[in-house]
Amino acid sequence: MNGTQIPTVQLRGRYPDYLWNNFIQLIGRQDWIACQQQLKDVDEELWSTTIQRMLMERLHHRSQYILISLEGLKNDWEECFYQYLAHNFGFQVNSMPFEMLARSLPLKILRREGANPHAIESLLYGQAGLLEKDFNDSYPTELQMHYRHFQKKYSLTPIAASAWKFMRMRPVNFPTIRIAQFAEMIRSHPSLFSIARDSEDLENILPLLSVQANGYWSDHYLFDKLSTRSEKNMGIHSIENILINTIVPFIYAWGIFTGSESAREKALEFLFQIPAEDNSIIRKWSEMGVNIGNAGTSQALIQLKQLHCAEKKCLSCTIGSRIINTLS
Ligand code: SF4
Repeated sequence: MNGTQIPTVQLRGRYPDYLWNNFIQLIGRQDWIACQQQLKDVDEELWSTTIQRMLMERLHHRSQYILISLEGLKNDWEECFYQYLAHNFGFQVNSMPFEMLARSLPLKILRREGANPHAIESLLYGQAGLLEKDFNDSYPTELQMHYRHFQKKYSLTPIAASAWKFMRMRPVNFPTIRIAQFAEMIRSHPSLFSIARDSEDLENILPLLSVQANGYWSDHYLFDKLSTRSEKNMGIHSIENILINTIVPFIYAWGIFTGSESAREKALEFLFQIPAEDNSIIRKWSEMGVNIGNAGTSQALIQLKQLHCAEKKCLSCTIGSRIINTLS
């Protein structure tokens, strides 16, 4: 407000009126996505360009988040990976407490104590705030005893048990079960990121993620509560979820960090080998006739819907530009 005149440019008359009218007509639509009615006319080449662009954008955004976190962790890739993996293990509902848990308990402590039986479980359950009561079963009582020792040794403060959500969840997804699987993954592969990064074949990574919770959980979903017997293995959808949301973005971020094009290409190749996700966004695209054969395409379509269609950024979208230029 200092009286300086702000330069302006008059665009009216410098572009054909039909472009403006087409744009207004397109973004004014109230369908699930603005171009829903024109989608059937989008040719394969345009789809392919759009999918490729969205996928690169998604991986690039995710890599930027990873690289920022990495800087705060003094470029410790395994620690950074461990924190993201923990977040992923929360499968949205418990992502925040899982991440808080990992941040409160550095991976180096788990690695140092990992040789002692049940050390990783006692540290994780203890830091999760889930050992703060009296138990009847010997397994949680033992975990509690070990945790008290580690708590003193490392001056640990647990997170609040109330942070965990159990309501309206299938028991197999209870945080008690997920923590047991996470503990087993860390115990059996404390350098999971390095192994995944150096693997040339997706088939070599899958068995590393296929872990089973400790035997106690075969007939429990909660401490002290007996249930019917069923092994608590990581299901294939959970494994694919971890591949898509943690392993692939980390390999891609590593490729950016080191300037390795082959790492970035490998991340993309892995995505195209994983089946497409099944969620409400993907089902909707599928209902509209979009062919979604793999996770590379499903990730691109999630990016398109969440960051472009939902924000009506049709002007900067390859499909949007084509429609605006051709709508009559
Ligand atoms: S952003 Fe692109 S795909 Fe999404 S509604 Fe607009 S034109 Fe359609």
